[in-house]
Amino acid sequence: MHPATRTAIYRRLRAANPAPTTELEHGSPFELLVAVMLSAHTTDKSVNAATRELFPVANTPAAILGLGVEGLKPYIRSVGLYNTKAKNLIGLCRQLLEQHGGELPADRASLEALPGVGRKTASIILNMVFGEVEIAVDTHIFRVANRTGLAPGRTPREVETALLVNTPLQFRKDAHHWLLLHGRYVCTARSPGCPACLIRDLCEYPHKTPARAPRPAPRRLQRALLAGRELARKRRQRTSA
Ligand code: SF4
Repeated sequence: MHPATRTAIYRRLRAANPAPTTELEHGSPFELLVAVMLSAHTTDKSVNAATRELFPVANTPAAILGLGVEGLKPYIRSVGLYNTKAKNLIGLCRQLLEQHGGELPADRASLEALPGVGRKTASIILNMVFGEVEIAVDTHIFRVANRTGLAPGRTPREVETALLVNTPLQFRKDAHHWLLLHGRYVCTARSPGCPACLIRDLCEYPHKTPARAPRPAPRRLQRALLAGRELARKRRQRTSA
């Protein structure tokens, strides 16, 4: 993809959404970490449903640790894989308290050493909490980057590297959210919304969803139109006679 095309794509995404952010509800960096960690393989909607119950009761490492695995599970039942995530979250809180004074560490290695925290979660925290230029690649971003031609790659890591190298500096900080939201709501997996897509003319995907042909008018309407035309023709004839 030509660099000018890439810039044009980001300009349009920015114009449509100048301050993109996560849809995971949170009120502190720790709440964001918990929400992102819970969101693996499940929807933001189900995570928000869980954290709306959990955070008013426990929203610090000490408070969640105090619930214990069994005490935590009822709050996060709406989230996929909640048994494993409950164990990881308790381990994460313990590690934060024992090794980081209850604060979020600001480096990737320490974040990824927390139970249940992988590269993607660490990238989101580094980007949103610590202001680092990171582009976490999830399934939506992987799809959009490949379809559009912004950053083709066979693996999420390849796409991440390509995005970091290719994305113009002024767009790097927000690229993650623009691409994620575009993939979630427009460039969807099964039926991408190409006809209404704001970057349709710039996107290099060869199999774009075609615009729907206008539906033919129903038979009764067609007959009425013909009758109207016939009437008008006869009137013209009478007037000219
Ligand atoms: S034109 Fe279609 S394939 Fe390309 S980004 Fe838009 S929705 Fe996705």
